[in-house]
Amino acid sequence: MKLGIVGLPNVGKSTLFNAITQAGAESANYPFCTIEPNVGVVSVPDKRLEKLAEMYNPEKVTPAIVEFYDIAGLVRGASKGEGLGNKFLSHIREVEAIVHVVRCFEDTNIVHVEGSVDPIRDIETINLELIFSDMEVLERRMDKTRKAARSGDKKAQEELSFMERLKTHLEEFKPARTLEMTEDEREMLKQYFLLTSKPVLYVANLSEDDIINGYADNPLLNKVIEYAKNENSQVIPLCAKLEEEISMLSDDEKQEFLKDYGLDEPGLNKLIRASYSLLGLISFLTAGPKEVRAWTIKRGTKAPQAAGKIHSDIERGFIRAEVISFEDLVACGSEVVAREKGLIRLEGKDYVVQDGDVIVFRFNV
Ligand code: GDP
Repeated sequence: MKLGIVGLPNVGKSTLFNAITQAGAESANYPFCTIEPNVGVVSVPDKRLEKLAEMYNPEKVTPAIVEFYDIAGLVRGASKGEGLGNKFLSHIREVEAIVHVVRCFEDTNIVHVEGSVDPIRDIETINLELIFSDMEVLERRMDKTRKAARSGDKKAQEELSFMERLKTHLEEFKPARTLEMTEDEREMLKQYFLLTSKPVLYVANLSEDDIINGYADNPLLNKVIEYAKNENSQVIPLCAKLEEEISMLSDDEKQEFLKDYGLDEPGLNKLIRASYSLLGLISFLTAGPKEVRAWTIKRGTKAPQAAGKIHSDIERGFIRAEVISFEDLVACGSEVVAREKGLIRLEGKDYVVQDGDVIVFRFNV
C-alpha cells in the first residue's frame, strides 16, 4: 500500500520526501518492503504503542509503516507527453492514494514554473492532466463496451450508461472520485483504474514564518482548505524545509526545536497518520513481554483475517479473539484488572476489528 507524492516542480516535493526518508523506519525490520531510492518507508507515529510499552516492558516495539513514492516530473501538458509525461502518469497508476503538494510560500529566490504562487491554479493544473489521461482510458474502454452493448449484452448496456455519466463528469473537469455513485457503480469504476478515482490529500507547503505565526497570516492556505472541502479531501499544512531539519535531529533536540516553534509534534507525523487513514488502514495492537506491536488491516476486516496478518496458521485455526479497547486497558492499568472487571470480550469470526483493539487470538494448531 503506497502513496504517491505529486506536485508541480519547485513546490517542495523532494524536500518533503527527504524528511520522510530521514525519519524513515529501520528498513532492516521490514524485509518485505522493496527499498528503492524513490520509496520512503516510515513508521506510523502512535502514542498508544509507547503507553503499552510502559505497561509491558517488551523487548521490542514494532510500529505500523506506510510507504511514500516520490513521483517527480509532472508538468503542464504531461498527458500529451510533456516532461516525463506518460511515464509519470503510469507511476501514479501504481499507488493507492495521492499526496498532492502545493506551494503556499512566497520566496523570490525560488522560481515558480507558472510564474506566481497560486495553489488553486496549481491543483487544477495537475488535476487536469490526470483528468485528460482518464478520459483517454475511459474512451478506449467505452469502445469495447459499446460493441458488447450493441450485440445485446444487457450488462454492457447498463455499464455504458454509467460510463456516459462518468465521461460527462470528467468533461466538466471534475475528478472521478467526486462523482455520486451506487455501490455497483463504484465496483465498476475500480475496474477502470482511473487516476482521479484515487483518494487525495493536499499538503500546503508554508513558509517558516507561517508556522511561527500559527498559519494565521496565510490567505492561500484558507483557499486550499476551502477547495479541498468541496471535494471532501483533507489538507495538511506544514513547512517542508522545517520538517527536513526536524527529521535530522536527535529525539532530545527535536523536543527543544518543536517547543521553539510552538509545535506539539512534527507536521510530518500528522501527514503520516492522515496518509494511513486515507489508504483506509487501521491498526490493531498486540502486547506482551516479547513485543508490543501495531498490525495493519483494512477498515472492515474481520477477526480471522486480522489474525492472518500475524500468521496464516492463526487464521486457519481461529477459535476466538479476546479483545479489549486500548482505552479500557490503559484505564485498568493491567490485563489482570481488565479481566476481573469483565472488560476483555470474547469475539467470534464475524467480529469486525476496530482501530486500537488490543487482541489475543486463540487458535487450534
Ligand atoms: P520539488 O521540485 O517540488 O521537489 O521542490 P524542492 O523540494 O526541490 O524545493 C524547491 C526549492 O524550494 C528548494 O530550494 C527548497 O529548499 C525550497 N523549499 C521547499 N520547501 C520550502 C519551504 O517550505 N519554504 C521555503 N522558503 N522554501 C522551500
